[in-house]
Amino acid sequence: SEKAYQFMVRSRIPGGVLTAEQYLVEDELADRYGNGSLRFTTRQGIQLHGILKGDLHATINSINKSLLSTLAACGDVNRNVMACPAPAANRVHTQISKIAHKIAMHLAPRSQAYHEIWIDGEKAQTVTSTQEEVEPMYGPTYLPRKFKVGIAFPDDNCIDVFTQDVGLVPYLVNDELAGFTVLIGGGMGMTHGKVETYPRLATPLCDIPADEVLKVVETIVTVQRDYGDRQNRKHARMKYVVEERGVAWFKAEVERRLGYTLLPPREVSFADADDHLGWHKQADDRWFLGLYIENGRVKDTPTLQLKTGLRRVIEQFRPGIHLTAQQNILLTDLTEEQRAPVEALLSEYGIATNPDAVGASRFAMACPALPTCGLAVAESERILPSIMREIDEDLRELGLADERISVRMTGCPNGCARPYLGDIGLVGRSKDLYNMYLGGDWSNTRMTALYATSIRTHEIAATIRPLLELWKAERLRQETFGDFCHRIGFENLRAKVESRATI
Ligand code: SF4
Repeated sequence: SEKAYQFMVRSRIPGGVLTAEQYLVEDELADRYGNGSLRFTTRQGIQLHGILKGDLHATINSINKSLLSTLAACGDVNRNVMACPAPAANRVHTQISKIAHKIAMHLAPRSQAYHEIWIDGEKAQTVTSTQEEVEPMYGPTYLPRKFKVGIAFPDDNCIDVFTQDVGLVPYLVNDELAGFTVLIGGGMGMTHGKVETYPRLATPLCDIPADEVLKVVETIVTVQRDYGDRQNRKHARMKYVVEERGVAWFKAEVERRLGYTLLPPREVSFADADDHLGWHKQADDRWFLGLYIENGRVKDTPTLQLKTGLRRVIEQFRPGIHLTAQQNILLTDLTEEQRAPVEALLSEYGIATNPDAVGASRFAMACPALPTCGLAVAESERILPSIMREIDEDLRELGLADERISVRMTGCPNGCARPYLGDIGLVGRSKDLYNMYLGGDWSNTRMTALYATSIRTHEIAATIRPLLELWKAERLRQETFGDFCHRIGFENLRAKVESRATI
């Protein structure tokens, strides 16, 4: 008999926005076909784990009936388009959300095979043999590798816009959306020991009026389609084309295909990367509540009935659901009168609503890694909570409990939790061994750098502790941990840590 193959099913949810009804479908599928948990991803999608091969059709079919889709959530095409998940605060905000959705639809594959296989239940061959399928943008060979697009909001880089193949940063004129600064060639993945692979932050390419965004993004996709490396998958992302051929070459190629000259990019800066947790008033005077979800994993445990509690609240109050790029959830469109009963119902299930009570884990992210990701070489999601407890204790002991610190961990160098940004990145090398990266900035515009290699799991917090002590002793006013490490420099940091150890 055939092996019991298990699959991960990922839904594509542009901007992380879905309805209460769609959430409840995913919640139910997790119990009926999956491992009883939902996983919010770092790209604002939802993953179901442990789906048996025989249940794939029913699962994907149900997701599509709810008007979500798994189409292009994987594969060598444009993936989930990211956008700030905070509910619309003004007209610009609404426009940007609509543009995110339009890009997702515009870059979606046109092939009917997906629908034939997963929706109608008919075999693809019976239909495609009689009609030629055309992918006007992707062509017959699609892209060399996955492709990622994200739209930041003015002054809020919560979606890590510099990690996208195409990052769009809006600019306003008289408080109206005038256009976007286009960044190209970001990406986190690398392979240990392969120097031709590296994480890279996106580079500014040009400024464009808002109504040219679809055309320009599509043209950039076609340049990657034609010039991306199709021989070596580990070297196939667009960031390598941008880095190796240069931004000037890339710009000229886009201009040639568009038939006009692009404007030079303006300087991009961000004040913050907001996690949107806690209660916030919306522009329409209703409220949204951002809830912390440890590593995006929604499940019930003896002490925290997160999955059941969320389901009850969503069933009863039918809020809008917005998933964040930090793997958290926003319950939106709640009235003033609903706030207290929502809080009361959540607390019945042990779900805290005050983000300040979360501690150091608030800004921590882990990828799924073992046992559900086939590429993982080390633990991540299962081990980060205990590491964060140690770091949390150290911060408290040092009187630094109120400081923000971000830790990002992955079970392999592909970097799904974007560990090459933030204060501290932990990247799995092999079983129980991690590389430690330090020195990113809070708004995620500067990459971390490699500080230490091959640290064992039980040594991670102990390696960080003396650095926290140094930070406390020598930081400038309000200097973040990442900025401190970056300013002091790693050689100095190592020397200072050593000299403290020998005192
Ligand atoms: Fe991504 Fe690697 Fe983590 Fe798997 S183990 S989820 S590929 S970073």
